[in-house]
This record gives sequence, C-alpha cells and structure tokens, in this order.
Amino acid sequence: MSMISVDVLVLGLGPAGACAAAQVARQGCSVIAVDRKQVAGHPVQCAEFVPAMIGMDVADLQLAVRQRIASMTTFVEQDAPDIKENFPGHMLDRAAFDAHLVGQALASGAQCTLGVSARRITAEGVVILSDGRSIMPHVIIGADGPRSLAGRAIGQINTALVETRQITVPLHHAHEATDIFLSADIPGGYGWLFPKGDVANLGAGVDPEFKHQLKPIVHRLHQTLMARDQVGARILGMTGGLIPVGGLLQPHGRIAHTQVLLAGDAAGLTNPVTGAGISAAVHSGRLAGLAAVATIGGDLSAPQVYAEELNDVFGAALTRARRRRVALAARQPGKEDLRQSWIAYPQYWTA
Ligand SMILES: Cc1cc2nc3c(=O)[nH]c(=O)nc-3n(C[C@H](O)[C@H](O)[C@H](O)COP(=O)(O)OP(=O)(O)OC[C@H]3O[C@@H](n4cnc5c(N)ncnc54)[C@H](O)[C@@H]3O)c2cc1C
Repeated sequence: MSMISVDVLVLGLGPAGACAAAQVARQGCSVIAVDRKQVAGHPVQCAEFVPAMIGMDVADLQLAVRQRIASMTTFVEQDAPDIKENFPGHMLDRAAFDAHLVGQALASGAQCTLGVSARRITAEGVVILSDGRSIMPHVIIGADGPRSLAGRAIGQINTALVETRQITVPLHHAHEATDIFLSADIPGGYGWLFPKGDVANLGAGVDPEFKHQLKPIVHRLHQTLMARDQVGARILGMTGGLIPVGGLLQPHGRIAHTQVLLAGDAAGLTNPVTGAGISAAVHSGRLAGLAAVATIGGDLSAPQVYAEELNDVFGAALTRARRRRVALAARQPGKEDLRQSWIAYPQYWTA
C-alpha cells in the first residue's frame, strides 16, 4: 500500500486524542485519528468522576452527565468520616462522554477510524497501522494512554503506575458524595465508591507490587458497604486498568523529521494521588492540537511552548501529588500520614 501523507496523525481517541483531533481539524489542517477500540469509549476503564470545571472545556457536557456530585467523604481507617462540602463535580457515562468527543472531532472534519491500532513507528517517523496503511505525518500526537507507543518512540515512558480494579454494584440510597477510603491496607492507593444514579462504581488502586491484593481489597470494601446497606451484592460490571502516577513527562520529541507531541495519560498528566486524568486529557489534547498546527505553520518553538504550558497548568499540582505519594510509600502510614496525603485535608496543601 502507498504512503499516505497527512499534517497530523493522532494515536488514540480517548478524551485527549479526540480533543486534539477536533482542534487540529478546526484550524484547517488535515488530521487522521485512530483508536484500536471498536467502539468509542468501550470498554469503560474509569470511575467516571469529573470536577464541575470541566464544563468550561467541553461543550454539551450534559449529554454525558449521569448525576451531580456535591461533596467528598473521606474514611480514614475505621475513624468517623470527614466530610468536605463544596466539592462540585459530575458522574459521567464515560462511554457516552468519549463518543461525544469523537463526534465533535468528526464534525470538525477529522478523519477518525475506530478498530485500527498503530503497530509501529519506524525510524523515519512513518506509522504502520493494523489496517495496512503507512502514514507519514508532519506531527504525531500520542494520545494513546499510559503505555503510549508514541511516548516509547521518543523515550518518554510512564514507569510509575497504579493497578486498579473496579466493580459496579446496585446503590441502595441516593448519594451525592464521592466516598474515599484511606487505609494502610490499600498500599499506594485508595478505595472509592462513586455514585451514579441507582448504581455505584466501587474500586481500589494499589501499587503494582500489591496487585495480588486488589481482589480481596475490593471484596472487603464491597462486604463492608453491603453490611451498611449502602450497596447490593450483585456485581453488574467489572473493569480495571493502569494509572500513571509518576508525573509529567517531556511531552515532545522528534523522530527524523516528524514532530511528536504527547497528551493526556501518555504525557503523565494523571494526578499521582487521586488518579484523576480526564480533565487534564481534554485540556492537554486541545493544547497539543494547537501546538501541532503551529509546528506545521513553521513555528519551531511550538513544542517547547506546549511543554511550558503543560508545566504552567499542571506542574505544581503534579509535583505536590508526587511528593505526597513518595513520602507515603516510604513508611507504614498512620492515620495522620494518610490525611496528609489526601487532597481533602488542609495539611495536604501545606508545604
Ligand atoms: C479504573 C480507573 C478509574 C479512573 N477513574 C477516573 C476518574 O474517576 N476521573 C478521572 O478524571 N480519571 C479517572 N481515571 C483516569 C482516566 O481514565 C484517564 O486519565 C483518561 O482516560 C486519560 O485520557 P487519555 O485520552 O489520555 O487516555 P485514554 O482514555 O486511555 O485513551 C487512550 C486511547 O488510546 C487507544 N490506544 C492505545 N494504544 C493504541 C494504539 N497503539 N493504537 C491505537 N489506539 C491506541 C486506547 O484504545 C484508548 O482509547 C481512571 C482510570 C482508571 C484505570
């Protein structure tokens, strides 16, 4: 098959890739975007919470919102819960959200193909796709998640990761808080119960070293919440996945004449403490799209400016979270250590 030239090739059509593709197309450049998933957003690998502020970045967000979140409740070991009011957010239907963003990319003129994966990137910067196409782009946007092929090609790899497991269960009483469970028995992560109408996402993340403990951790949490009559026994769904927790990577590099930009999880933008990465994926996808267009227009400083923008927007929060995470991992944490390492407590935010 002959070589296809395009301005921008986007790898991945999650929130980062879909937003990047839409942005590039809106600026009038040609863009091909691919995702190995057959259906946008499926299977869902997410607890589906986003802060309300994301509404500023995503038009028609309500199409994918399933319920509102007003507060956060944190349980530290067996202590009485601490309630943080004024924690506004939304629980999404993540599959609908991703599909909505891909729809916006298509409507903007991006050529999006599902069910196609990027197999390899050659030393000349040509991307070989699973459908046999060979693409020679001016810019590759690597929005292909925690184990990014584009990232690997420029030596930017998420090495620190968290393993997760999540079940969806019936929720017995309407709830408008995200419940967080902190314990020394959930090493390198935390447990969560996020309500979504009459069901809830119940899960946990841990350091990969303790992956074998994930199933019993989630099982114990499930039993505890059943005993409180908060949730039902039936498991309606199950998922999991990796979350990068090492902080920001260098989000640009070159392969021969091809410029590579990384966005979202591929750039290490997930918060190392909370694991949240949807908002950062959307925002960085947009910025990567703009940087790609500027690069094509001849602005040689655009990739570095993109890196600086990411650092300005996310750097301080990621650095603090990473510091808290590393400090917690260094010892067998007591309750005060756990509180100092969680965003709901003022001590998290002090030096
Ligand atoms: C269990 C779990 C719960 C989470 N809960 C939350 C939460 O509640 N709130 C929150 O904000 N964040 C949460 N996150 C993190 C959030 O899901 C990610 O930060 C977010 O999806 C990042 O978006 P992205 O577009 O960068 O990457 P992704 O959404 O991972 O999208 C990357 C896409 O690239 C595709 N891809 C990968 N490799 C290739 C290839 N070679 N060729 C073609 N396509 C490829 C994948 O199929 C995928 O669709 C959670 C993560 C996990 C695992």
